[in-house]
Amino acid sequence: MLTKRDFYINGAWIAPAKPRDYQVINPSNEEPCAVISLGDQSDTDRAVAAAKAALPAWRATPPAERARLVAAILDQYEARKQEFAEVIAMEMGAPIDFALEEQAPCLPWHTTNFLRAFEHIEWIRPLGDRAPGAAIALEPIGVVGLITPWNWPVNQIALKAIPAMLAGCTCVLKPSEEAPLDAMMFAEFCHAAGIPAGVFNLVNGDGAGVGSQLSSHPDVEMISFTGSTRAGRAISKTAAETLKRVTLELGGKGANLLFADARPDAVRWSVARMMENTGQSCNAPSRLLVERPVYDRVVAEAAELANAISVGPADQPGPHIGPVVNKRQWDQIQAYIRKGIEEGARLVAGGPDLPEGFNRGFYVKPTVFADVKPGMTIEREEIFGPVMAIIPFDSEEEAVAIANDTPYGLTNYVQTEDQSRANRLGRALVSGMVEMNGKSRGAGVFFGGVKQSGRAREGGIWGLEEFLEPKAISGYDFSAG
Ligand code: NAD
Repeated sequence: MLTKRDFYINGAWIAPAKPRDYQVINPSNEEPCAVISLGDQSDTDRAVAAAKAALPAWRATPPAERARLVAAILDQYEARKQEFAEVIAMEMGAPIDFALEEQAPCLPWHTTNFLRAFEHIEWIRPLGDRAPGAAIALEPIGVVGLITPWNWPVNQIALKAIPAMLAGCTCVLKPSEEAPLDAMMFAEFCHAAGIPAGVFNLVNGDGAGVGSQLSSHPDVEMISFTGSTRAGRAISKTAAETLKRVTLELGGKGANLLFADARPDAVRWSVARMMENTGQSCNAPSRLLVERPVYDRVVAEAAELANAISVGPADQPGPHIGPVVNKRQWDQIQAYIRKGIEEGARLVAGGPDLPEGFNRGFYVKPTVFADVKPGMTIEREEIFGPVMAIIPFDSEEEAVAIANDTPYGLTNYVQTEDQSRANRLGRALVSGMVEMNGKSRGAGVFFGGVKQSGRAREGGIWGLEEFLEPKAISGYDFSAG
């Protein structure tokens, strides 16, 4: 078992003010794999004070130098990516190949895209002849608190810590207590890359402790949060007292509109995309809306595909799906599966209880429900597990109405060969993102939602701007340098 009780504050690993141990459980076998500490107010205060002290020098560091230091994090990643992936697999259950090919590479992917976008930032610009002497300067917002979840742990850290540092902010990261080990490795990368002391700090803790201490801290100017809608609401309320900027990436209940003219592999893509990461993605296409003429065929194909997905431990190579993260999540998913059956949806693959052959580990059968009706619990609520709901529709209008009738609005999906319909739906679906025909977002495109999915825009230039504050200056003379 790993011993990881220290926090990374002001460029050094230091012991918590008061010992409060927390065991990180390996979801593949339910064994503790590490012990960390949960911080308290004095740990949070110490980290925030270090970030505050480091801010003047870091914001005054020329952007090119900040970019050079942040880019050096990539060398650390390259040298240790296998170990990084192994840690992710162990703490949150992503199978090792998936951790190595999809989870861990989120760090170089986002960092490279941010560095590219960073070159195009106009730090100070005139407004032209209509406003002589007016200048708009971009300034780092200040000390930022970053609170991240366990499901794509490095992805979220990369989407927050990298742009924060590039923008000239200093930060305190509180990663999920369920998956803190990759975050601690990220702190090691920052240290070895030469990021100055105090610019990046890490305090482990839970939501009620370090999470709310950061959200209420008078010296923290902004909270960037990814996680549940419940916690997003709590953070917004706590942060209101000090009027911080709060950016939120929350849950989702994505609709995937599959038309009769969809490409041949559209069902395969839809099932694979739903089940990857064991369904624990906020942008999972969890509601498959199918045009009536192909409905029976699609249901049969989806059931067959789900039944063919194998489930196994995270340290086993191969394309299987792993366990879900913890017992609480497992119990919730089981309750949703039972609710689906109770409310009359037709179970066509998977179902409740552990998959055959398992008596420990938080494994879930890849599950598909057909004949799901709008308004059923499994159609409304985010399950965050490998459970797909299939719903028939008769017209494009009906499909759009069902898709949009949700409190969430993160990613919707469309499968059709009719490009003008695809374009039309790209506009009609109410969500931060729409992905057509299996095309994922390109380099430098943001990630973000609307409604109760939160309204952050993370990634690329938009993700950098979240950490910058425009300042209006009058009487500025550009010729004076
Ligand atoms: P969670 O909200 O329980 O926890 C997320 C983080 O917030 C953790 O670090 C946790 O300790 C902290 N936290 C919890 N309560 C808090 C509070 N009151 N104040 C401050 N911090 C608090 O979520 P989770 O279970 O870790 O992650 C799953 C959820 O995250 C899902 O709902 C999923 O959809 C969402 N998610 C959204 C995105 C996105 O970009 N939209 C990405 C990944 C996950």
